[in-house]
Amino acid sequence: MTDTKYQIDLLTAINEKLTANQKAFDMIARYSGNLYIYMDYRNCNDIRLFGPWDEATGQRIENHPFDASYMKSLIFEDDWTAFKETFLNMHMRKERKASAELRTAYKKRWLRCDGTVTYDDRGNPVEKLLTFTDISRLKAQHEELMYLAYYDSLTGIYNRNYFVSGLRNMCEEADKNKTTVELLFLDIDDFKKINDSLGLLLGDELVQSFAARLKEHITENVMIGRFGSDVFSVAIYDPMGSRSARGVYEAVCEDLKKPFLLTNRKEISFTISAGAASYPEAGRTAFELVKNAEIVLFRAKDNGKDTIKYFDPDMVNSFIKTVSTEQRLKEAIENEDFELYFQPQFSIKDNRLRGAEALIRWIDEKGNVAMYPTDFIDIAEKTGAIIAIGNWVIKEAMRIVSEWTETYDFPFVLSINISALQLEKDNFVDNLRHALNLYGVKAERIELELTESIFLEDRDLAIKKINMLRRLGFRVSLDDFGTGFSSLSYLKDLPIDTLKIDKSFVDTAIKDKATNIITESVVDMVNKLGLETIAEGVEDKNQYEFLKKINCDIVQGFLMGKPMSRADFEKLFIGQLM
Ligand code: C2E
Ligand code: MG
Ligand code: MG
Repeated sequence: MTDTKYQIDLLTAINEKLTANQKAFDMIARYSGNLYIYMDYRNCNDIRLFGPWDEATGQRIENHPFDASYMKSLIFEDDWTAFKETFLNMHMRKERKASAELRTAYKKRWLRCDGTVTYDDRGNPVEKLLTFTDISRLKAQHEELMYLAYYDSLTGIYNRNYFVSGLRNMCEEADKNKTTVELLFLDIDDFKKINDSLGLLLGDELVQSFAARLKEHITENVMIGRFGSDVFSVAIYDPMGSRSARGVYEAVCEDLKKPFLLTNRKEISFTISAGAASYPEAGRTAFELVKNAEIVLFRAKDNGKDTIKYFDPDMVNSFIKTVSTEQRLKEAIENEDFELYFQPQFSIKDNRLRGAEALIRWIDEKGNVAMYPTDFIDIAEKTGAIIAIGNWVIKEAMRIVSEWTETYDFPFVLSINISALQLEKDNFVDNLRHALNLYGVKAERIELELTESIFLEDRDLAIKKINMLRRLGFRVSLDDFGTGFSSLSYLKDLPIDTLKIDKSFVDTAIKDKATNIITESVVDMVNKLGLETIAEGVEDKNQYEFLKKINCDIVQGFLMGKPMSRADFEKLFIGQLM
């Protein structure tokens, strides 16, 4: 009896301990937040559930017999097959561990499921435990990160990085299928001006609206991205017809005919510039393709905007050359690697030296001409380096004029070329006045050569400044007459002393009857206005004789003398004095 009682007591104690363990385990499971399915293969495949299943499924789990079809009803239908294949038959495949992500049917919560099966010595399954962990928050964070990594937050289209990786895939696909990819860059013309006038918020709104219109062009083979503030990219796989760089560009231009209505009820219209390049012709990698298409876009901008340009190797080479010149020009300015050359000007009546035009030369270490201004002045104008170069020219010209005035008792005139950007500077007139004082130079020794481009921005202001310069005593000439719009009627209103007739005019005047007559009337009219005329680029006797006949005042050109070093030019001076 004692034995039996002892056994009963022992069983009760074991049972109580088990119940306590069970309770503890239930609590741990419930508050860990995880869900568990435990299956005992030794015990008629007994299935038990632990953890907050009711919350996760929205139903009272214990009311249902738990089997595969009930499990199916709890899992989001798209994820059921994968779940079934991964976990339900693990033991048949003798797998010990497996894991996968799935969603619940109720509220589509994301769960990670980890399955473990144990086996006995003979390889028969003993127990299986499936642990479900809620990863919804992690998933949301991950998606947000992915969104930030892939999408442009302002417009919701692909950002630069993701676009380039998509482009890379397209290029690989094109290699496989022996086809091509076209890349199109689009840039809103004068965006800075538009943005400044709208303010940042409306500017953003405009970019968003433009992106929304671009989105309409997305297809299976057309991908769109945002590259910079107002630069958008379009990649077209296996291009053809309307789905080609030209096709998309034309369609977008068509879209732009409808103005954009912003929240301030203002209607905005703009044009776009575009650069197109195609793979593999314009680049062996997606990266190279992007680089070249951007260069083509710059070219389209330079070419007056509202246009599309296509890649060609020369364009890229010249771009690379320009960038390298820009770089070297910076150093040249630092080191003052320049020299002034002088091209003599002669009065046609008496063959006397009138003076010279100062022409800048970029000099190498050996003192030879490294580059002529035709190859770097335009670049310097574009980058703004012309201001520093122009200041150097003014200083150097004044220094030389002051030395010449001391040395040679001769009423010469030295002409200096002035860029429109220099004249636009607020302090231009003051700087010149300051330089005159610094070098003790008389302003009448100096002629400032301006071109018609100074009238493009603010004509009245340009005229006002010219008047100020003339009041200081400077002579002013209009350079390259005949290359711009060169209207005769506007000449009479310009406060200038001299008109320089361009070489192209001089060249055609003796070949072409009409130009001949025009040149004659220009010189005649300019003389009557009391201005002086200089003919530039006079290369042969016939031109000289013609200019003499029509009473042109002064000639400058290779016939009389090429631009020469200061030392050589001074010999002409001395000759004149003897
Ligand atoms: P530009 O002011 O019209 O200068 C005349 C150009 O024509 C000079 O070229 C000169 O060498 C060239 N030339 C003169 N006679 C003849 C000729 O008979 N035949 C031919 N084929 N060419 C002739 P360069 O020195 O290369 O200067 C080119 C342009 O660069 C100048 O045209 C001017 O616009 C600009 N430039 C030169 N120096 C300066 C400067 O110091 N500042 C600025 N802003 N521009 C400058
Ligand atoms: Mg000139
Ligand atoms: Mg000229």
